[in-house]
Amino acid sequence: MNKRLKILAVLLLFLSFISLTKAEKLLTIPEKTNFEKTSTYSQVMDFLKNLKKRHPEKMHISFFAESTEGKKIPLVILSEEGVAKPEDIRFTKKHPVLIMANIHAGEVEGKEATQILMREILEEGREDLLKNQIILIIPIFNPDGNDKMAKGNRGDNGPELAGVRYNGQGYDLNRDYIKLETPEVKALVNKIFVKWDPVIFVDMHTTDGSYHVEPVTYAPNMAPQGDDVLINYMWKKMLPEVDKNLLKKYGVKSIPYGNFVDRRNPSKGWRNHAYLGRYGTCYYGLRNRLSILDENYSHADFKTRVKGALGFIKSILEYTNSHIKEIVKLENEADRRAVEKIKNSDFPVDFKSIKTYDFTIESYVFKVRKMTEEEKKKYPPWFKGYIVEKTDKLKNYKLPLFASFKPTKFVKLTAGYILLPSEKEVARLLKLHGINVQKIEEEFEADVKVFKIKDIKSSKRIFQGHHLNKLEGEEILKKVKIPRGSFYVSLSQPLSRLIAYMLEPLSPDGLAAWNFFDRVIVREWSNKYRVYPVYKILSEPKVYMHEF
Ligand SMILES: [Zn+2]
Repeated sequence: MNKRLKILAVLLLFLSFISLTKAEKLLTIPEKTNFEKTSTYSQVMDFLKNLKKRHPEKMHISFFAESTEGKKIPLVILSEEGVAKPEDIRFTKKHPVLIMANIHAGEVEGKEATQILMREILEEGREDLLKNQIILIIPIFNPDGNDKMAKGNRGDNGPELAGVRYNGQGYDLNRDYIKLETPEVKALVNKIFVKWDPVIFVDMHTTDGSYHVEPVTYAPNMAPQGDDVLINYMWKKMLPEVDKNLLKKYGVKSIPYGNFVDRRNPSKGWRNHAYLGRYGTCYYGLRNRLSILDENYSHADFKTRVKGALGFIKSILEYTNSHIKEIVKLENEADRRAVEKIKNSDFPVDFKSIKTYDFTIESYVFKVRKMTEEEKKKYPPWFKGYIVEKTDKLKNYKLPLFASFKPTKFVKLTAGYILLPSEKEVARLLKLHGINVQKIEEEFEADVKVFKIKDIKSSKRIFQGHHLNKLEGEEILKKVKIPRGSFYVSLSQPLSRLIAYMLEPLSPDGLAAWNFFDRVIVREWSNKYRVYPVYKILSEPKVYMHEF
């Protein structure tokens, strides 16, 4: 190289350095529009691609699902080590954490907050959050719903145009975690939960329930069949610390998610009754992992919600970054308990709600009046004949939180389940969930409990394309022939809680409830029922079987 060329090369290097350091700040759509607009799918993708161009070594984008309308759903991976796929994690000695937004696509601030979070981590001095963890972000989980933006889709305090709750098939994705009928949730479970196994899953929403001041509300896994130690850890340790830090560091108030038990008398209590595994954060709890539901308060303006949601996920990530070893240890112990202690145990299938703790909510003075006859026709029955109006006068209420559960009905589990050969699709579904299923290659005799169905009550009203079943019947101890081609699902495995939840005939949110066995349990010409095609076997089969 001659001298001139050398000088030119140095100059070019210097110029590119200047342009890089002076690179324009990448702004999200709300930041560009004074928080009047939220981003479309292609605007999110532009933001991600531009950010990745600047940080190719620390940011990776992979696509894990395709929506009904053909949009590829991005998973953003942020790491110091350039992790691009689950296998890469082994070399980092770190653990992944997952934040997801936009499952209900009209609920938009999580989608914006996660984009700002990526920029803050990569460009604005928050690289500390990558010290002990790999951060996985799904900023736009429901792109089909997101892009159906219209006025009036939501009653939120901005933005004016927002998408819809359901996906391209018309399903509510946050009811699909057990049945996996949507491409989005099926891939989330199989490609991310099973393959990456994040130590925590944060699911971001917007809520329009009871009136209060705090812009952020939260809940851990609510499914009471989940591991007690993990549930207590969330209520007693992690969430109180995240809540405190959020206020101290980011000036954002937060409370547990819920609604007034009685709107006429707020002091009676605050209740969260969403404890079924069909909801993502509850489902994740059934996998012995931590989860947080983030519900931002829709009466707060859009900018306040983005700021609140952003502070909340940073506060969570600060906690996980400094406690990741403790969390992993707790989860490993929960896995071990699931392997050892669920088989042959009493498994709860029904619950009543009980007090978790007392707390204070910042709310308002309410005006209460009886409905007129006209109004009674207009409002749903849970309004109980009263109109409750918020005034502008602030008032604090100290009240009990009802977000814990006491079992009221148990079923006795055995060593595991036998699925008859007719249930191959169910065996496949269990595999998608990451459950170990064995295919039985020879006929044998076994002692089993057979569930004899006495009655099936199906809901009149269609819910998510289903008439949900409620089975009644009794278990009968029997010696039966198990045909070749059946499947064995052992309860001595880490996902035993989820297995019992899905396969018990009396589980209110299991596969029987979701109509998976309707084809074989209802006879064509008689009003009697066939036996439930899943037997409970008393001891592990000692025959030739192999992984399905
Ligand atoms: Zn939601």
